[in-house]
Amino acid sequence: MNSVDNYDIIVAGAGLSGMLAATVAARAGKRVLMLDRNTEEEVGKKTVWGWTCGDAVAGSHIDFVTRKLGVSFGFPELDRRVDGVYAISPDLKTRFMFEGVGFTLDRPEFETKLLQIARKTDVEYISQFDISGPVLDGKKVVGVHGRDRNKEEKEFHAKIVIDALGVSTVLRRNLPENPYIERTVDIDDIESTGRYIYEFDLDHADLKYYDPDNALIHLNNEIAPGGYGWVFPKSGNRINIGLGVQKRSLDIRNAKMKRSDNLQTLIDNYVKWNPALKNLKVFNKNNNGKGIWSVSVRRQMESLVYDGYMGAGDSMVMPNPISAGGIGPALISGILAGENAVRAVEENDTSVKGLWKYNLDYNQAYGKRTAGMEVFRIYLQSLNNDVLNYGMKTFLTTKEASDITLGLIPELSLASKFKMVLKGATNLRAFSNLVYVVGKMKEFNSLYDAYPKTPEEFAPFKKTVTTIIEDAKERFKPNPV
Ligand SMILES: Cc1cc2nc3c(=O)[nH]c(=O)nc-3n(C[C@H](O)[C@H](O)[C@H](O)COP(=O)(O)OP(=O)(O)OC[C@H]3O[C@@H](n4cnc5c(N)ncnc54)[C@H](O)[C@@H]3O)c2cc1C
Repeated sequence: MNSVDNYDIIVAGAGLSGMLAATVAARAGKRVLMLDRNTEEEVGKKTVWGWTCGDAVAGSHIDFVTRKLGVSFGFPELDRRVDGVYAISPDLKTRFMFEGVGFTLDRPEFETKLLQIARKTDVEYISQFDISGPVLDGKKVVGVHGRDRNKEEKEFHAKIVIDALGVSTVLRRNLPENPYIERTVDIDDIESTGRYIYEFDLDHADLKYYDPDNALIHLNNEIAPGGYGWVFPKSGNRINIGLGVQKRSLDIRNAKMKRSDNLQTLIDNYVKWNPALKNLKVFNKNNNGKGIWSVSVRRQMESLVYDGYMGAGDSMVMPNPISAGGIGPALISGILAGENAVRAVEENDTSVKGLWKYNLDYNQAYGKRTAGMEVFRIYLQSLNNDVLNYGMKTFLTTKEASDITLGLIPELSLASKFKMVLKGATNLRAFSNLVYVVGKMKEFNSLYDAYPKTPEEFAPFKKTVTTIIEDAKERFKPNPV
């Protein structure tokens, strides 16, 4: 086996988070190696299925990259601008507007642009390299090993490895047993998701089904048990349409409804259910018209660092627990991981302690609200369509719902609400559970506001976090229909 030493930083994975981490570190003059299994032409492709994603990202997350790197984005990588997102109740009668400019990306173009930016630095980039796992010295991560394009085994060594391999990462899964980062993720915290990119004609205008200016989310547990369906506009007459489900909720829904649906049949039924679209044709540019893949919907790993190791993006289960939006967290964490890797190399301390500041930075920039959002997601998955219809009409105002999806705490006007909710035991229970959830969100927000400043303070923090989450899972069982 060939072995190459003396890199400062290895970035494993040239996706969104990886390319930004590599760019930041190489710009600071560090010796950086970036490895990915894709060919260069297909940079950022997640799996054989392509760049599978809903493609929607908040404008503020693109702005973060612009601000930090001094680069700007436009068409074609920002494929279409949207004004905001509508979440629509199962009976289509209530909708919450989440304002805020966003974009649907052309992911192959976006990742190509990120590679062009990385290429302006001295980053060494090896494509078609399939990583098999970490190289360890005792319990410290000191490199990665895998197979190059000629199927030869190779090993690369560095002071720090940044894991940007996405949700199926072979690095995090093969870390030594350690108190900081879990190697596995609960299957209930993973959504199976898939989507098409279609060209279509409009049968008739109906903003409940297609909105050229907004992203639409359909909450409906018969259509997408434990998840949601989406219709996101793209440029021209194109859409990104798909859905995500929780496996356990799907099994319960199938058993109760005596159905045998799987992810693909659900997606196809969802497309057929939409009366506003006709003459659908898969838009297969870059072979990216149809795909399925997984996305996590939990808080990010409690710690993102270990000895010689940092993680960014999906490898650290960073997508937003309510919306499953992982592009923003990947962009933010990629940049912050790069900055902190540089600092740790310069300070000559790549232990957990030396890397710890990355935890604090990510927590501050994005991570501190996700645990509360996870409790809300667990609660949401315990509500069937009837309760969702009633709850969206009665329990929350648009402002309160918007606060929740931002991880903020809505001040529920309880007294006035209780009057409206006096209708049936199920709804009363659902409402008092919502009050409980908001309380837990508050608790989490204070806990993460006081995120441990050092690794020594970490164990009790992690214990409290996991206990609250386990209690919530015990209290709210999936109950889609
Ligand atoms: C169907 C679906 C819809 C989604 N919709 C949205 C959405 O609308 N908005 C949003 O914000 N987020 C969405 N997400 C999530 C979003 O796509 C991800 O969060 C984002 O791509 C994460 O970026 P990343 O850089 O962490 O990982 P990835 O994009 O997964 O990149 C990982 C990179 O690592 C490489 N790699 C992996 N394993 C190896 C290996 N063993 N050896 C070498 N290279 C390897 C891959 O080739 C890839 O280049 C969706 C996800 C799915 C599945």
